[in-house]
Parts: sequence; structure tokens; C-alpha cells
Amino acid sequence: MDNFSSLRINGQRLWQSLMDMAQIGATRKGGCNRQTLTDEDKQGRDLFIDWCREIGCDVTIDAIGNLFARRAGSNDSLPPILTGSHLDTQPTGGKFDGVYGVLAGLEVLRTLEENQIRTQSPLEVAVWTNEEGSRFAPALLGSGVWSGAFEIEDAYAITDKSGKSVGTELERIGYKGEAEARARPLQAAFEVHIEQGPILEKENLQIGVLTGIQGLRWYDLTIEGEACHAGPTPMQSRRDPFMAAAPIIAGCYDIAAQYEPWGRATIGDIKAEPGSRNTVPERLILNIDLRHPDADVLDAMDRSFKELVERECTSRSLEHQVSECWHMPVTRFDTKCVDAVRSATEKLGYSHMEMVSGAGHDSLYIASVAPTSMIFVPCENGISHNEIENAKLEDLEAGCNVLLQAILEIDRQN
Ligand SMILES: [Zn+2]
Repeated sequence: MDNFSSLRINGQRLWQSLMDMAQIGATRKGGCNRQTLTDEDKQGRDLFIDWCREIGCDVTIDAIGNLFARRAGSNDSLPPILTGSHLDTQPTGGKFDGVYGVLAGLEVLRTLEENQIRTQSPLEVAVWTNEEGSRFAPALLGSGVWSGAFEIEDAYAITDKSGKSVGTELERIGYKGEAEARARPLQAAFEVHIEQGPILEKENLQIGVLTGIQGLRWYDLTIEGEACHAGPTPMQSRRDPFMAAAPIIAGCYDIAAQYEPWGRATIGDIKAEPGSRNTVPERLILNIDLRHPDADVLDAMDRSFKELVERECTSRSLEHQVSECWHMPVTRFDTKCVDAVRSATEKLGYSHMEMVSGAGHDSLYIASVAPTSMIFVPCENGISHNEIENAKLEDLEAGCNVLLQAILEIDRQN
């Protein structure tokens, strides 16, 4: 057992901690409502800190409320190996999204502690503030500030629907910390998460070895027409923006299909103005979301989309405007970290596949400042952001064992 390759986490203890945390903000349908910077969020943070102190960790709170529980290494001057995720949930969230990544990190530290194993590098478990973005937009706020994507003063000023700000709510729950919210050198960062999609379950595989996060492009497409009466106006003499919107929508699905299996096209919202049943709309606004894990393909999808819009609108003499409101570039995870996860998975003998994340995670921002990768485990029917979100103890245990062994693998490289 010289390199601790036979060391395993305690799945039952991990499960119990998940269930204990789920009591805070528990909903009637078995989910959680522990939105960021609420009283419930404070209680969840307090419980996590109690658990960390029980095993001798130091907990640091930074200025945006991110928590870092640190277990000293035998060479404590080395940059830490970090893992973690988030404890906040959607209003009708589940018990596992984010929470699993935090408590799996804690379980790794508990396992090392009870086996009296001291890694060379210090280990840290992070809890990132406001990953979900449901109470305060945007999402990934804590990891974004820490990585330098957002300014802290801008983050403090963000308000919820009732006008309360991030800054005042952080102070109110006592989690506006002293430490500067700024990236420090890390040896590696890992995040284990439920997949929130159906692929692993469908393939009957236990572990997803993540190589990156999909890129996305968000567009607001405005098509201008001319309002007229639905009855007297002959079809030929109308300037109806829907006549272009229909082939554009179909064309978006064709673009996604052209780049199967990872291409995605979603028309999430359409607003018709003035929005009256018996009037041809004078304006349509479509919200469109295109995604792909390969940067070149996503660029190609972008070009096809713009050509499609141009063609369908111009041929009908409809003016249009495409405004690109968000471009999240493709994230490629660090080779060393991906290799550590793959090799840990293989040594543990778990079935697995390489995949990319379709959703954003804190790791997206961490990856911009430190070597990073992620581990996925299946969740029931791929359902997440839902109170019925569920996962199996043995899969959660497997993912946590991969996390433990990947961390030890990186530590051995010192
Ligand atoms: Zn999450």
C-alpha cells in the first residue's frame, strides 16, 4: 500500500452527508431550495465548516464568500491540489447538483485523515458562491470573480428580484470574508459532478472522463415586418416575419443535425410584437442558443446560422438584426489532469467514456487560471435542476474514489 492505490472512500458516509445537507432547505418533493446567500445557504455553509473543522482543516472565506477548507501537506509550501463545487441550489433543485462535488471533496479528506495519510501537497476543498445564478445573475459568480472574469465591485452590486444586493446579503449571512477573492497558484483542480444528462446512464457506464466544456453562442435575432390585418390582407402582399422565422428555426435544427452527436440548437423564446392573434406581427425576437465542444465546429455553425438568416430574410425583403449576446468559448481541460482521472478510473476498474460537459460549471472559470478537469457520474434519467434529481450510492462512491486516486496521482508527481 506504498502509493495508497488500494485506498477507498466510504460510500455510506458520503451518502449520509449528502442526506444531512439535504435537510437544509428540504422541499416537500424530496429536493432542496437552498438558494445562494439565503438563510439556508448560511446553514449549509455552517454545517460544511463544522465538518471540515472536525477533521482539523483550516477554513478561509474570501471577499465574495468562496470557502476554502485546507488540509496541510507534508510540504505545505507546494501549491495546493483543489477540488470542490457549490452548495447553492435552484429554487426547485435536487440533493446532488454541486453538493456532491463539495461533499466528495470532504469525503476524500476524511478518508485521508482516518488513514493518517499526509499528502505532500496541501489539499483544499472549495465551495464556490452562487454557481446557479437563479437568485443573482450571472451564474458561476464566485468562481468567476476568483478567476478574474468579473470585478468584485460589480458582483457586489448585483441585485435579486426584491432589490437585495450580493454585497449586503453576503454581509447579512456573515460570509463576506477577509481573504482576497483572487486566483492563487494551484497544482491541479478537479470537480466531480452528476452528469445532468442521460448519456452515461444510457450507455450503462459509471464514469465520465471529461475533456472539456462545450462552447456556446447566444443570439437575439430580430426580424422586422409590417403589421396588418389577418383577414383582408392577401398572403402575397404581407411582410410577415414568421415567414422567415419558420425556415430559420428548421435550419437551426439542420445545423445541429449536421454536427451530431454534439451539435445543439435551441430556440428558447420567441416574442411577437404587438402579439395579437389577428395581426401579422411587426417584429419578432428569437432567442437562439448554439453549442458544440469543438471550437472550429462552433465557428462553422455560427457562419451557417448567419448565412441562413441572411438568405431567408433577404429573399422575403425582411430587415433583420443578429446580435450576439454571449459567446462562451470552448474549454479544453488540462492534459495532465484528464490523464490523472483516466488512469485512476482504469486502475479502479470502472466502466467509462470520454465526454464533454454540455452545461457550464465552476471548472470553466477555474480552467482559465489553473490545470483543471472534471469527473461525471450518471444521474437517474439524466434529470437535474429538479426536486426528483437522483443518483445511486455506488456511482457516487465510484466518482469519489476516482477523485481520491486522481488527487493522489497528481501528488505523486511532486
Ligand atoms: Zn452544479
